[in-house]
Amino acid sequence: MSKKPPVKKEDAPAAAAPAAEAAPAAKTQKAEKKREKKHKEEKGVRAMYKAEGEKVTRARPTCERCGPGYFMGDHHDRYTCGHCGFTRYKQK
Ligand SMILES: [Zn+2]
Repeated sequence: MSKKPPVKKEDAPAAAAPAAEAAPAAKTQKAEKKREKKHKEEKGVRAMYKAEGEKVTRARPTCERCGPGYFMGDHHDRYTCGHCGFTRYKQK
């Protein structure tokens, strides 16, 4: 009974080597998955529109001065037009 543990320890280094090689690969895969989830925020033209099934709706208001076609930047408390500088504050 007392002889078994030392034998297992001798076997451990050889058996642990392949396992240690596989462990880092699994860790990097998990890290990549977490990164993909963080990059959910859309940028550019894709952020201006929202696709719901077959319909496409505009996610941001257009500039009142410049007219349709000029989307306004979405800030935490206001919308701004990058073309003419028009700012409209969000109503609470
Ligand atoms: Zn404008």
